[in-house]
Amino acid sequence: MAEQQEIQLWQTVEPVEFIPRIKDQSESQSLLIQTRQAVGYSVAGGQLAHAIQARATHMLLDYTKAACAIRYQVDGAWEQLPSMERELADAMLVALKQLCLMNATDRRSTQSGKLGLKVVKEKFSLSLQSRGTPTGEQVMARIEPDKVPFQRMADLGMRDKMYAQFKESLDAHGNNILITAPKSEGLTTTWNIAMEAADKLVRDFQSFEHQDNPEPEIIYINPNFFGGDTEKDLPSVVKSAILKEPDVLIFPELPDPASMKLAVEQIKKTDKQVYSRMVAPSALHGLVKYLAKYRESAAEIVSSIGAVLGQRLVRRLCDECKEGFEPSPQLLKQLGIPAGRVAMLYRPFVPPPIEQQVDENGRPAPIEPCQACNGRGYLGRIAIYELLIPGEKLKAALLKTQDINKLTQIAKSEGHRSMQAESVLTVARGLTSLDELKKAFAKR
Ligand SMILES: [Zn+2]
Repeated sequence: MAEQQEIQLWQTVEPVEFIPRIKDQSESQSLLIQTRQAVGYSVAGGQLAHAIQARATHMLLDYTKAACAIRYQVDGAWEQLPSMERELADAMLVALKQLCLMNATDRRSTQSGKLGLKVVKEKFSLSLQSRGTPTGEQVMARIEPDKVPFQRMADLGMRDKMYAQFKESLDAHGNNILITAPKSEGLTTTWNIAMEAADKLVRDFQSFEHQDNPEPEIIYINPNFFGGDTEKDLPSVVKSAILKEPDVLIFPELPDPASMKLAVEQIKKTDKQVYSRMVAPSALHGLVKYLAKYRESAAEIVSSIGAVLGQRLVRRLCDECKEGFEPSPQLLKQLGIPAGRVAMLYRPFVPPPIEQQVDENGRPAPIEPCQACNGRGYLGRIAIYELLIPGEKLKAALLKTQDINKLTQIAKSEGHRSMQAESVLTVARGLTSLDELKKAFAKR
C-alpha cells in the first residue's frame, strides 16, 4: 500500500522564477537548464515562493542528521515551520548553491552567493550564506524586494503633529539635523524617506558618500564621492562642494572632524543646513555622542541644532483582527494616561484553546485564522519616533555635561516627549500592543 504523503509547504504555491547573477545570457540559460533537471530545483522554487508569500525577510535552514529545521523571520520575529526531510532539503540546497554560483559539494566552509528571484512581476534579491556546523550545516537566506515601496513618514508611524515639526526643521535655514536609530532598527528607511520628504525643488542638495558605499539615488540629491579609486579624501571633496554654494550638505556616514568643521561653518556663515545620520539608542544619546565626536565644533553645532530624530521599531497590530479592550484605571495610571482620555486599547487576537472553540451546541467549531495576518495578530512594522528640538536650557547644558539622566530631565522640563511617552501614545492610537512594547524595550 502506498504511503499517504502529506502535502508540504513548498508544494502549496507557484514556485519563483530564478534569475542567476550572470551577465552572459547564454551562460545563465545553461545554468538554469542544468539545475532544472534535479528535484531540488522545484523544492527551492516552491520554498522561496512560500517564504515570500509569508512576507519572510529571512529563512534559516538548520541541517541536522535527522531533518532540516526551517525558520522564517517575519516583521523581525522568528517563526518555526514544519521541518523538511533531510534528503529533500539536501536536494533543495544543492540547487540553491548551484544557482547562487557556490560550491554545492562543499558543506563545511563558510560560503555566500546571490541570486535574483521573480514572483509574477515583482523581483527580489536572495543572499545565501552557508556554513558547516558540528551536526550538519546552517544556511541563512536573506530575501529583499528590489523596489522598496514608496512610503511617507506617516506610513512609518509618525504622528501628524510631529511630522509638521520635523518637516519645518528639514526645510529651515541655518540648522543641523540629526537622524538616529539603534542598530538594525530601520535607520536607512527613515533616512531615505526623510530625504524624500525634504523640499528639494528650489534648493541644492550635496551628499558625501564613500565610493565603496554609495547611497541609493534620490532625485535632486547630488552625490560627491570620496575614497576608493577617486583618489580624493573627504575634506577636499567637501571643500570643492562648498564652492558650489549648496543649500544642504548631507552626511549619510559621520564625517571626520575636519570635514564637519567645514560644513558647520557654512551653517553660520551662509545659513546652510547639515543633515547627518548615525546609530544611537535615543535622540539624546545620539546628540551627546555627536557633540563628543566634534568637540572642536561643539559650540557651533549646539547653537544651530534644529532637530534630532530617534526611533524604535515595533510590530504593527493587524487592523483586521486586533481586539479592543477597556483599560482599567490602574493600567491607565501606570501608563501615565489621564483618566477619560483613552476609551479603548488594543491587543492581538489570541484564539481560545481548541477545546473551547465550539458552537452554541457544544460541537467543535475551529476558528479560522485571520487571512490578513495569517493568525499572527501583527502585520508589518512601524517606528515609534522621538523628536528632540533642544531649547535654550538644554543647549546650555549640552556644552557642560554628558550626563544623560541630567540632560533628560532638562529636556523634559522644556516639554520634550520621551521615547516612553511616544510609545504610550502609539499604543493609545491602537497601532501596537503593550506586549509588543515590552518586547521591543526588553531587547536592550
Ligand atoms: Zn489579522
